[in-house]
Amino acid sequence: MRNVLSKITLLLFVLVQSSCYLTPFVKYGLNNEGFKKFSKKEKLAGNNDNPQRAYKINRYDWAVELIPNKERISGEMKITFTPSIRKDTFMFDLQKRMKIESFTSSVSGAKLKHKGDFLFLSFPTDQDFTSRISLTISYRGKPVKTLGEGPIQWKKDKKGRHWISSITEGIGPHFMMPCNILLGNEADTTSINVTVPSDLTVTANGQLIEVTKDDNKKTFKHLVTNPINIYNISFNAGNFTKIEKPYLDINGIERNIECFVMDYNKEIASEYYNQAPLIMKEFEQIFGAFPWWNDGCRFVESTFSAMEHQSCIAMGDDYEKNWKDTINTTLVHELAHEWWGNSVTGKDYCDIWIHEGIATYSEALFLERHLGVEDYSKRIQRMLFSTSNTIPIHKVCGVIYNSWTNAPDQDIYDKGALMMHSLRILVNDDRLFLNALKQIQIDFQEKNVSSEEMVVKLNELLLDDYSPMLNWYLYETKPPQLEIKLDRIKSKLHYRWEKEIPLMKQQELLMAMNGDKIVLNPSTEFQSMDIVPGQKLDFLIERGIYYELKILEILE
Ligand SMILES: [Zn+2]
Repeated sequence: MRNVLSKITLLLFVLVQSSCYLTPFVKYGLNNEGFKKFSKKEKLAGNNDNPQRAYKINRYDWAVELIPNKERISGEMKITFTPSIRKDTFMFDLQKRMKIESFTSSVSGAKLKHKGDFLFLSFPTDQDFTSRISLTISYRGKPVKTLGEGPIQWKKDKKGRHWISSITEGIGPHFMMPCNILLGNEADTTSINVTVPSDLTVTANGQLIEVTKDDNKKTFKHLVTNPINIYNISFNAGNFTKIEKPYLDINGIERNIECFVMDYNKEIASEYYNQAPLIMKEFEQIFGAFPWWNDGCRFVESTFSAMEHQSCIAMGDDYEKNWKDTINTTLVHELAHEWWGNSVTGKDYCDIWIHEGIATYSEALFLERHLGVEDYSKRIQRMLFSTSNTIPIHKVCGVIYNSWTNAPDQDIYDKGALMMHSLRILVNDDRLFLNALKQIQIDFQEKNVSSEEMVVKLNELLLDDYSPMLNWYLYETKPPQLEIKLDRIKSKLHYRWEKEIPLMKQQELLMAMNGDKIVLNPSTEFQSMDIVPGQKLDFLIERGIYYELKILEILE
């Protein structure tokens, strides 16, 4: 009894202690109706127009020591930035449990205040918008965990050795380092120096510059020479062995795709990563040259399932090929992010469908090129089962909220992909459509773009105004509705579009009945067709736009 009571007391204590970190879960995870209210903190954190955020990050120089036995870190971050307006106070982010030990600035008389999860750097006078300013912060702490997971996952590998991975998308990079968490403010250059006990190897984004040894510790220095999304800055530490997959890139240059895997997984991983050059080849054909050859292309075995960490993609340790035993579609998805999400990046977190929707659609494009059109159709058809159509895929702009537990918010993946598929159907010219995707990679390379800018660009490249259709999928909750009346007594199916579909040149939809594919040509007027009693009806979208069935009536 005492044992039970002490466990309950402990549970209550843990819940109370971590309650503020559970807020996003309670607020968003248990709420299936979308987001109605945002807190003052969420608005302050995500406000792109906040004058205290009016600066450009030029460079991050991050040095962090990992202390695995205590699950603590000790770090130093140098932020170099240039104000874009004359101002005396600038705001950054650092989660409140991280304790600042000291700070220096290139501007004399600077003061730094750590208030909640924000940092306020103030100067005696307004700073000129041409001046480069540096802020160096020494800090330490134990990164906070929510529901057992934090920005740094401290795990043990199968041999009981330390295995540590960072992942901050959703949680927030400021849970492990001082930074600016806004999506639209990427550093041009980032150095990442990670110090670990000397039995561990570290890999991080960018090229490994040097490894230094001091007592029982090693420091691995990496340099990223391209703009990088703040949530992509990451590291992995473990007992890795390196596998290299030679690859001739689209310009005929010999490259190596590197794979950092657990030493005991070398054999299985070596076979598994044979798919990486194949996927890279198809994507370079579809979207153009891989954007980060100068920083490298690397996969690393991580403590979690997968994440598109730029030039150092995290993959889990299951080594399964889920598509016809030859391809892992998660690997395809994560590599696609190097073009969609990492090179072409949303301006605000509300534009994140550009990352997830197009990366998910890229899975289908890869399968189509690599295996054929039937595999494209199969992948598209599977997407239909996971859309919830509860909130629009264009999210609320100017706020930062943690929605990683919210199911309706996941429509950015499959519904975003279905929107791209629908656009292709409307354009009805594969060459024009695929050339547009390739051109966007050139025009928006290493840029932050809003949803509005993306729609304008698509219209320009696709030579027509597709805004009514794109805006329908982006800003409305429900996709086009196909209204159905099923008359089982007379064995008839009546169908029509609820509203006219803008720019729909070909009206064909496919339906499968009794193993046969039947073509429907719906309009806003009801049409009828005979059905076979007892047969299953499947509505297919391989030749049609994404829509939902709205059953008006069933007579039986
Ligand atoms: Zn993704």
